[in-house]
Amino acid sequence: MKTLEQAELRVHSFESGGTVDGPGIRFVVFTQGCPLRCKYCHNPDTWNPKNGKAYPAKTLVNEILKYKTFMTFSKGGVTFSGGEPLVQKESLVPIFEKLKKEGVHIALDTAGTTNIDEVTKRVVELTDLVMLDVKHLDPAGHKNLTGMTNEKCFDFLKLLKEKNVRTWVRWVVVPGVNDTEEYAHQLAAFLKPYDNVELVEILPYHKSGVFKWKELGLNYELNHIKEPSHEIIEELASILESAHIKTLYA
Ligand code: SF4
Repeated sequence: MKTLEQAELRVHSFESGGTVDGPGIRFVVFTQGCPLRCKYCHNPDTWNPKNGKAYPAKTLVNEILKYKTFMTFSKGGVTFSGGEPLVQKESLVPIFEKLKKEGVHIALDTAGTTNIDEVTKRVVELTDLVMLDVKHLDPAGHKNLTGMTNEKCFDFLKLLKEKNVRTWVRWVVVPGVNDTEEYAHQLAAFLKPYDNVELVEILPYHKSGVFKWKELGLNYELNHIKEPSHEIIEELASILESAHIKTLYA
């Protein structure tokens, strides 16, 4: 594995006062590169692993540590999001090791799209909170929505359970795709064995990233889909709650 001095991380952008990517106030690192092609992606400009800017790992850690006081004070921390941060998992290891030594709370926002190997295991061991996107329970539905089936995501969830890592599952509710009461019941049943899953964050599908698709000359296939109503989100949440699964939604 690389040392902090050897590693570099390709970054799309930073956000220094994030409040929606984990607890407290967070410094968010949006990493570059993603193997999925979600039809509703808000950040298609993160897909190409060669774009963005490469930061020496040490420089990145020093940048994050500048915010340590406000992160600690707000019970927040740093969140690695993307893109898919696990694309650069070899570089995450020394960065996470150093942040851990410094007492910074580390969250990882991921779709779990990686092979389970020693590097993945080490990343997971060093992470305080994983926010795992479960995009579709059905392999064919997942492939249709993201371009890949869901085995890797589910293997990753099993690893999180084995390592007893605190996990929030994220469910982007897309009308006509995964927004039914039946789907909510299936999700509740699927998550039942995972006692490491603390809650399900329900995120209504929205179109705020569509302009980026246009800028990149990409065809946005979900234009006909409307954002789900608050009533639907509440209804889906109540199904999970009645199965004793905590929910979080705006
Ligand atoms: S995993 Fe995230 S970054 Fe990757 S395509 Fe899906 S929504 Fe976009």
